[in-house]
Amino acid sequence: MSSISDNLQAVSADIRTAALASGRDPQQLRLLAVSKTFPADAVIEAAEAGQHCFGENYLQEALEKMQEVQAKKPQLQLEWHFIGPIQSNKTRPISEHFAWVHSVDREKIAQRLSEQRPAGMPVLNICLQVNISGEASKSGVLPEEAVALAQKIAVLPGLQLRGLMAVPEASDDEQVQRQAFRQLKLLSDDIQAAGISLDTLSMGMSSDMHAAIAEGSTMVRIGTAIFGNRNYAK
Ligand SMILES: *Cc1c(COP(=O)(O)O)cnc(C)c1O
Repeated sequence: MSSISDNLQAVSADIRTAALASGRDPQQLRLLAVSKTFPADAVIEAAEAGQHCFGENYLQEALEKMQEVQAKKPQLQLEWHFIGPIQSNKTRPISEHFAWVHSVDREKIAQRLSEQRPAGMPVLNICLQVNISGEASKSGVLPEEAVALAQKIAVLPGLQLRGLMAVPEASDDEQVQRQAFRQLKLLSDDIQAAGISLDTLSMGMSSDMHAAIAEGSTMVRIGTAIFGNRNYAK
């Protein structure tokens, strides 16, 4: 079995190769290690191998993990990203404990995150989650509503709108994967044409990272390829 540190190296090399193959500068890509369902020790192992940014989906799990990492390794300064569904009664701890939130898809949630961001902390970095495949079951704002929502979020004082995030419908076909990511990129262009500057496209997971990088991703969110398969039953 390969270690987390070996996996991180392999994923970083893979990102670099994919970027170069698309004529892109590998420096434009950030790796978010998605540590949901994995223990604090896995985060520590990745951090000690040089990983700085970690993504979590479940608030309670994330808060406990952050505390444990902090207690065991107070010298580690990690950057935590919230990437899961947000209930409106959970916005306060999210705005108090994370540097980024990728899963904002409603004005009300954005307003609460902005109001509740503690004074003295830097503004909270936001990606607007877009339901790019239009699946009824998925979170995310519909593409046709994204520009209007971006305009509302961009003016909130506690937040900085950085870009867009999407989790497209799963497909093994790289052309289908690329089509969805291309739509997200075009939507980002539309928002920028409306006068809002963005620098982030949070797109690509373990199974569709190459397609996302080819279509302009600036942040890939990788769980399985770093930490292994998740076991939700545990
Ligand atoms: C779990 C998750 C990931 C990581 O997925 P892998 O397939 O394990 O790389 C990325 N983004 C979001 C929003 C997730 O929920």
